[in-house]
Amino acid sequence: MATFSSLGMEERLVNVLKNNGINEPTPIQEKAIPSVLQKKDVIAQAQTGTGKTLAFLLPILSKINPDKQAIQALIVSPTRELALQITAELNKLTEALGNLNALAVYGGQDIQGQLKKLEKQAQVVVATPGRLLDHMRRETIDLSSISMFVLDEADQMLHMGFLPEVETIIEALPENRQTMLFSATMPKEVRQLAKNYMNDPEDIRVKAKQV
Ligand code: ADP
Ligand code: MG
Repeated sequence: MATFSSLGMEERLVNVLKNNGINEPTPIQEKAIPSVLQKKDVIAQAQTGTGKTLAFLLPILSKINPDKQAIQALIVSPTRELALQITAELNKLTEALGNLNALAVYGGQDIQGQLKKLEKQAQVVVATPGRLLDHMRRETIDLSSISMFVLDEADQMLHMGFLPEVETIIEALPENRQTMLFSATMPKEVRQLAKNYMNDPEDIRVKAKQV
């Protein structure tokens, strides 16, 4: 059976996970982590509650260069609640690792405060589409160093009508990047988006357990 160590996670990260009660990778983590580490584009589908967040956060953290003060990874999430949840998970990991900064960017929060934090240069940004587009239009966010992009809960993005915003965001990103899509279900519009913006993606799917 795979362990986080056998999947290539460094000891410090494995220890932080243990301290948070996370001892073994879930099936989607076991399948997705190696592909993300290999810089592949991935389309990952697994039910809600199966640990998709860590399936992308862990390999992303392993690949961030902590000495580079620029946004290297962008995670787009459909709601403020989800963005905050992802950022909280990320902060638990980065606090223990030190020297990495994560920032949540979402609507309903004072934009000036976000600007100040963006100036300090986070290496990972977790954003909702609307507020991220605001920053892009104001040119208050520098996307030019992004090499990893995650579209999280892609089916929810579709249902909330955010796919056009998501396309605008993707089109503004550097072409030389890794693109990852995580979703509980894979409606055809989501699959089409993946087809349009991904490079030979790996299809990863964890089937729902039979009950
Ligand atoms: P999803 O995005 O697939 O709906 P989440 O990433 O939000 O699921 O994870 C659901 C819950 O499972 C979270 O509380 C998370 O901390 C927990 N979790 C994630 N990975 C593991 C693991 N390997 N072992 C135990 N719990 C885990
Ligand atoms: Mg999720």
